[in-house]
Amino acid sequence: MRLNRIYQQTDITLNQELNIDKAASLHLSKVLRMKIGDILELFNGDGYRYQAVIANIERHRVKVSVTSKDQYHSESPLSIHLYQGVSRGDKMDLTIQKCVELGVKTFTPIITERCGVKLDTKRWAKKQEHWKKVIISACEQSGRDSIPTIYSVTRWQDAVLKLSTNSYFLDPHANHSFRDLTAPDNTTEIQLWVGPEGGFTEQEVRHIKNLHIQPVSLGPRILRTETAALAAVSAINAIWGDF
Ligand code: SAH
Repeated sequence: MRLNRIYQQTDITLNQELNIDKAASLHLSKVLRMKIGDILELFNGDGYRYQAVIANIERHRVKVSVTSKDQYHSESPLSIHLYQGVSRGDKMDLTIQKCVELGVKTFTPIITERCGVKLDTKRWAKKQEHWKKVIISACEQSGRDSIPTIYSVTRWQDAVLKLSTNSYFLDPHANHSFRDLTAPDNTTEIQLWVGPEGGFTEQEVRHIKNLHIQPVSLGPRILRTETAALAAVSAINAIWGDF
């Protein structure tokens, strides 16, 4: 049976007891109805997974004893950094959740001219916290022991200041597909730029091409922005990664 995996934002030490945080305690006791002696898996983003057994259980307070520590290689050999034009509502959540499952290591939500989402600083900060939670639960589900980073929402003109040599932007009008490109060095970051629902403007496309970000096509059909990101990350994994 697959063990329940729980993220804890704290140091975890082998052979020691650990108090599980309040939210996870409630989940373990009320939702999963776990009992003393039941086994679960913990991770905190340090790259390891820890097996623990429930030592004591109350509604808001679960105490476990950490019994083993393992390193399981669930990280992709590729370092994919997704620069995603912010899309509306839960589309962005879906993109982030699926891309964590597919192994993306870093996210930067970007603002482009056609982004439909306009928020003040406080609400962007709230969104950021929400996206972090989406990332954690995707890691719990998919068995990743390292937590992908999500940077704050950035204007794309500011984000391009940190360009790597392996930078690609998804462009339905491009002449090349990923198959036509030479494999990037696995140790360097692959940057993937995806437009929002409305795509990039012509001016943005010109600007991006001038920066030598390579336009790449995903075939002759126009994909929705959330499909485009997932398809591109899958294609990259299939030709250069661990699919
Ligand atoms: N109406 C827009 C489509 C936007 S789709 C237009 O015609 O440009 C949203 C984003 O998904 C695009 O900006 C692009 O980055 C990506 N995308 C969609 N279909 C694609 C395809 N066939 N090839 C490459 N990128 C694609």
